[in-house]
Amino acid sequence: MISWTNTPPSTTSDCGYRLIRTPPFKPLRGIILADDLLGTPTHYTKGRTLPCPQGECEHCANGLPYRWHAYVPILCMPGKERVILEMTALAADQLKGYHSRFGTLRGLEVYADRPSRKPNGRIVILAKASGIPDTELPVAPDIRRILLHIWGIDDAAIEDNGRRRNMPASRFKNNDVGNVVLNPSAEL
Ligand SMILES: [Zn+2]
Repeated sequence: MISWTNTPPSTTSDCGYRLIRTPPFKPLRGIILADDLLGTPTHYTKGRTLPCPQGECEHCANGLPYRWHAYVPILCMPGKERVILEMTALAADQLKGYHSRFGTLRGLEVYADRPSRKPNGRIVILAKASGIPDTELPVAPDIRRILLHIWGIDDAAIEDNGRRRNMPASRFKNNDVGNVVLNPSAEL
């Protein structure tokens, strides 16, 4: 059912995020908005990255390798563009080091670069406390919802344990580390 209103939704924290990778020619600078990163196995197919449901996965069945990718929301500086940075496991490891050190990623000023200037060159990530009060930062967006939207996966299935819109029950589930994954045992 389409819901029409004459006022914008009150919660717009998930709007306007662009999914990006670390650019090769110009370092990315900004403030991290989430407490921690979120990652999941993915496939690169037909020019885009898609989540791997593990188990019954057509891409795995076709021999396509999967790679774990991590995602973190960033308020870019300057310009204040909101992005979700996609990172390799190696880059994410660097960020996890800062998480261990600071106890959270939120509010850290981050610098991500590819010193080789190659599109798939090694990523260097540096971070430090920004000093910006938490209350002056935008609310962290719901990364899972944004990614599922970008990936074209019906996020309504996550609500109500997958029982809406005639979706098979438990088609989606959260795994042990909080990632949304397709439930391999569900009928697709
Ligand atoms: Zn797969």
